[in-house]
Amino acid sequence: MNDLVLIKYGELTTKKANRNTFIKLLANNIKNILKDIQFNIKFDRVRMYIECNDSKIVIEKLQKVFGIHGIVKVSRVNTNIDDIKAKVLELLKKETFKTFKINTKRADKSFEIHSMEFNNIIGGYVLKNTNSKVDVHNPDILVTIEIRPEGTFIYTSVIKGIGGYPVGIQGKGMLMLSGGIDSPVAGYLSLKRGVDLECLYFESPPHTSIEAKNKVIKLASIINEYSGNIKVNVVPFTKLQEAIYKNVPNSYVITIMRRMMYRIAEKVALKHNCKVIINGESIGQVASQTLTSIGVINSVTSFPVIRPVACMDKLEIIEISKKINTYETSILPYEDCCTIFLPTHPVINPDINKCLLYEMSFNYEELIEECVNNIETITNLKNDNYNDLL
Ligand code: ATP
Ligand code: MG
Repeated sequence: MNDLVLIKYGELTTKKANRNTFIKLLANNIKNILKDIQFNIKFDRVRMYIECNDSKIVIEKLQKVFGIHGIVKVSRVNTNIDDIKAKVLELLKKETFKTFKINTKRADKSFEIHSMEFNNIIGGYVLKNTNSKVDVHNPDILVTIEIRPEGTFIYTSVIKGIGGYPVGIQGKGMLMLSGGIDSPVAGYLSLKRGVDLECLYFESPPHTSIEAKNKVIKLASIINEYSGNIKVNVVPFTKLQEAIYKNVPNSYVITIMRRMMYRIAEKVALKHNCKVIINGESIGQVASQTLTSIGVINSVTSFPVIRPVACMDKLEIIEISKKINTYETSILPYEDCCTIFLPTHPVINPDINKCLLYEMSFNYEELIEECVNNIETITNLKNDNYNDLL
């Protein structure tokens, strides 16, 4: 394995106390994401190296690993001046630049030339062989030469990683995942902060279709590229939803339906060791997402609810969904249980006492139990299974 990739940790290096836990988890996540290819991984408190056959494939996959700040393709040569000069020139010939800087780090103190002197030797060689100048303050290109006991590592450009924290460092959250634009983005943003996910999807067949369900699984599989551990729990919601429509005045059906969803989400979250519920609610987007509605709906649970897109404009959410590749799937036109039988005038400022009164008119607890007991859990989210949707 000749290729070498260097990983820079970024944000996690600032969390000193938990550093080892962070790094070990990051290494595990990387192993998980690279499990189908051959590689070796080495790491210490400052950096991580991956030896592999094809750095291009590895770098592409690493760009979906949270906790990585920078990715560098490294060239390794024997520690002798001629080999180092030749490699530096070879790397620079691939780049367009007017100014450069050589930055030598001498970790191997048995190498007798000091860093500054070595910068001058290599810099002089580059000046002689290219049409460029040295700029130590703001160079177009920075060449880093690390002289280490195991050889000399040389690199020029750092590819930006996606940042965030290693997925799982915060434990798990239960994402209410619908087929819309918002909830996959909410899931992605939670993963970015180190929260691994389990998903919960409410389906109401025959009112909602198998395509609607597959669409949600497809969305889960796309965000699973950042985790590898995501499962989808499908809740059979039909009977409860029909009972709501039968017993609750039309303007309150969505409010009550969402209160039921939260009750179920809490139970399933506890069952699967999730510490929070996550959803794609965004303030003011629809009647059930006014601050009054959110309050009345949220009051059925004391479980923490995280709303990563709460304060974003729809256009900002769409921008992220395009970036993470969920947008095209989200806009497929299959109906969700929230969009079937939509009331003409859903209440914008629901009254909690009315909610309690309407809920007394039918035995929803039994129906909730039935929902929770009949959940189908989908663990195999292989992207290919749902590719026919696009
Ligand atoms: P989205 O674009 O994510 O569908 P939305 O703007 O359509 O959101 P709602 O339908 O009111 O908003 O839903 C708000 C949130 O409730 C969703 O983002 C999602 O987290 C959750 N939710 C809605 N419907 C379902 C469902 N069928 N299964 C699971 N969660 C759901
Ligand atoms: Mg929706």
